[in-house]
Amino acid sequence: MKIQFMDLCSQYRKIAGEIHGAIDSVLSSANFVMGADVALFENEFAAYCRALHCVGVGNGTDALLLALKAVGVVPGDYVITVPNTFIATTEAITLAGGNIEFVDVQPVSLLMDPDKLEQKIVALRRQGVTVKAVVPVHLYGRPCDMDAITAITARYGVRVIEDAAQAHGAEINGRRVGTIADAACFSFYPGKNLGAYGDAGAVVTNDKYIADRVAMLRNHGRTKKYEHDLEGYNSRLDTIQAAILRVKLRHLEVWTDTRIANASLYSSLLSGNNTLTLPITGPGERNVYHLYVIRTARRDHLQQKLKEAGVATGIHYPIPLHLQPAYRHLGLATGAFPVVEQASAEILSLPMDAEISADAINYVCGVIHDSL
Ligand SMILES: *Cc1c(COP(=O)(O)O)cnc(C)c1O
Repeated sequence: MKIQFMDLCSQYRKIAGEIHGAIDSVLSSANFVMGADVALFENEFAAYCRALHCVGVGNGTDALLLALKAVGVVPGDYVITVPNTFIATTEAITLAGGNIEFVDVQPVSLLMDPDKLEQKIVALRRQGVTVKAVVPVHLYGRPCDMDAITAITARYGVRVIEDAAQAHGAEINGRRVGTIADAACFSFYPGKNLGAYGDAGAVVTNDKYIADRVAMLRNHGRTKKYEHDLEGYNSRLDTIQAAILRVKLRHLEVWTDTRIANASLYSSLLSGNNTLTLPITGPGERNVYHLYVIRTARRDHLQQKLKEAGVATGIHYPIPLHLQPAYRHLGLATGAFPVVEQASAEILSLPMDAEISADAINYVCGVIHDSL
């Protein structure tokens, strides 16, 4: 048996007719940049998030960069995030001219710890540093404790940009990500829960100023064709990608519910094994399971056994950002963020998407039980 980590080909085969129709109509229109599908997708994705505005951009990294700039991050500002995320989160902070500050995560959820966030904001204030923004990451599709985070940021006047690159359609206490903080940033990288056939991203917000600002920044700071209020970027959402995303958005709720069902099947098959820690969905949450991540002290052994049995797995992420060579200049040593460091040695992402069969999940779980 060969089990892929995700099966984009199988998903494509099921929607190929719709996709070809959408691409053909863009080709016939020849409106490849800012064509009609861009605004249509923006409206549809805003509605999906139950938010007022969506601005399509070139990728998820740019979504974070432009959102940070739109809430006023300028060179020298301090921005807090977590060390267990994809490097795009911190690249965006640096690209905006900001200084990266990390806080550790909660031991079970592996999401930003609100208490540590408050301690960090207070400690920096004592040194005379005002924190401009916080970027909580809804890692693996599970939403952060946004009520606690936004209660703290409101007290200290800190802006909040959600990194929702892994969390399309995730909810907490009845609210979808994208409507909770100042803005939420989405990636439509092919492997994300909603994936384009190339790079794409979006900023979702209820704040018209932020939406207008991102719309200007993504398109050379334009107000009119050759009038520029400021220097911006070339980071527009491609019309062809927007057309593809419109097709796939129509399937997203079914795919998401299938992911959630697949996660429940994994959890019921693995629940008897007390050498494993399984992912959970907290009360009032909709975890959209971008990844199904288990923990075990024998991670490398288990990954090897699964590989020998034909099962592809991943580690998200094996090296915490504060220990990456790229961030040596921050001067953060091993031991700085013990929860993230411990988790990075124990986490293992199992095959997960809306395509994997119940038989395949059964097989993977059988191999896990036999290996531990
Ligand atoms: C994928 C991802 C991004 C970046 O998105 P791109 O579209 O690849 O630029 C940012 N943050 C997280 C947590 C991601 O998983």
